[in-house]
Amino acid sequence: MVDVIVVGAGPGGSACASFLAREGLRVLLVDKATFPRDKPCGDAISGKSAAVLRELGIADAVEERPHAIAEGVLFSGPKGDRVQIPFPKDVDPTGIRNSKRYNYVTAGWVARRLVYDEMLFRHAQSYKTVETLEGFEVKDLLWEGDRVVGVKGADGREIRAKLVVGADGAMSVVAQKVGAFERDHDHWIGAYRVYYEGVTGMTNDIEIHFVEGLIPGYFWIFPLDNGLANVGSGMVETDLQAVDRSGKKKVHLIEDTERIMREHPAFRERFAKAKEVPGSKRGWLLPVGSKRRPLAGEGWMLVGDAGALIDPFSGEGIGNAMVSGRLAAATAAKALAAGDVSKARLLEYEAAVRAELDEELQMSYKLQRLGRSRMLLNFVLRRAAKRPKVRETISSMLADREKKEEFGSVLFYVKLLFM
Ligand SMILES: Cc1cc2nc3c(=O)[nH]c(=O)nc-3n(C[C@H](O)[C@H](O)[C@H](O)COP(=O)(O)OP(=O)(O)OC[C@H]3O[C@@H](n4cnc5c(N)ncnc54)[C@H](O)[C@@H]3O)c2cc1C
Repeated sequence: MVDVIVVGAGPGGSACASFLAREGLRVLLVDKATFPRDKPCGDAISGKSAAVLRELGIADAVEERPHAIAEGVLFSGPKGDRVQIPFPKDVDPTGIRNSKRYNYVTAGWVARRLVYDEMLFRHAQSYKTVETLEGFEVKDLLWEGDRVVGVKGADGREIRAKLVVGADGAMSVVAQKVGAFERDHDHWIGAYRVYYEGVTGMTNDIEIHFVEGLIPGYFWIFPLDNGLANVGSGMVETDLQAVDRSGKKKVHLIEDTERIMREHPAFRERFAKAKEVPGSKRGWLLPVGSKRRPLAGEGWMLVGDAGALIDPFSGEGIGNAMVSGRLAAATAAKALAAGDVSKARLLEYEAAVRAELDEELQMSYKLQRLGRSRMLLNFVLRRAAKRPKVRETISSMLADREKKEEFGSVLFYVKLLFM
């Protein structure tokens, strides 16, 4: 019997398995897919993920594979204001933390999940104490009383372990079976992404556009390797489902986004000769962290999307999946050493996640609500477009977790008036 079964080998599961192996534990990492596998995503790998990759010693591995770097973010508002905010470049004078390729610590990358997740999966596989099982779909859990003691596959196979980590994404079977899953449409985002070739005007900035027709929500264009662009849009499900007086849906996410690409004066030229990569248009759901889920119980823990840890404003979930994977591994190591995988013991993991991520998640929820106001969006973007000081302030706020909290404060918007 292995110590831990990790269900799902996305960024959360693969990071968790690697950290568990570093604690000397025997791990079985299972996934219903076979790697490399795609996952609908904006593919933006932020600084939070970069920090975990550095901890695992594999940040350079991202840069050895096809990727683009994210040097800043370009925002545009409903009235057409455009603001470019550079991410601060973190240069370490000793050179130890610098990337081999860029000579500074990149704020982040954009790498297709087909590439990125495989790199993380192969890294997890490289540890002697990690076994992997691809093409294995977990259908159910094994129980002893109220304690989870293993998993049951769609093929009827039963595998036992001392502990089960659910890292099986948004529709997590593990979360459903332990009763932690919920489907409150105010706290889920619907989104789609498509790859394009030949979008013009691409830079090393990720682009976030608040465009009429897709508010509340946004349209993104992210640079990728080999002249590709990751394009998509997303919106809170409640807004996606809203109907007008005649009962017609107000938003048709894909159709509306495609119309914006074809007709909107800021985009039509850029997409005029662009070609969709066949088969790359895919939608998926994002459970966001504005509603807390139980993250641990008797013999189980949930990481990443399975635990609804996606940032409610930006829709980023890779970093939080990897951070929660690391925290789950730390608790698992202590719990297994003590021979105690009770809920009381594993709740230490839930507390660690709350301490590390909760403030940011709740602040991002506030921002998501503020982003619904066109007036506020126009005000902030107009101020930032005109004043370098405002751009500098926002740049440092994006980089610094504590300063980021100011976005949620009324005072910040009052201060903007005087900058
Ligand atoms: C359109 C879109 C755009 C996004 N853009 C970004 C972005 O730019 N940056 C960002 O940081 N985040 C983004 N996200 C969120 C991000 O994709 C997720 O937060 C992230 O993938 C979570 O990682 P995870 O490891 O928890 O789950 P996943 O990456 O979903 O991995 C779960 C794994 O579990 C496996 N699995 C599922 N069910 C089972 C089962 N029953 N048995 C066995 N295996 C199973 C799956 O095959 C999969 O490999 C976006 C999401 C969407 C939908």
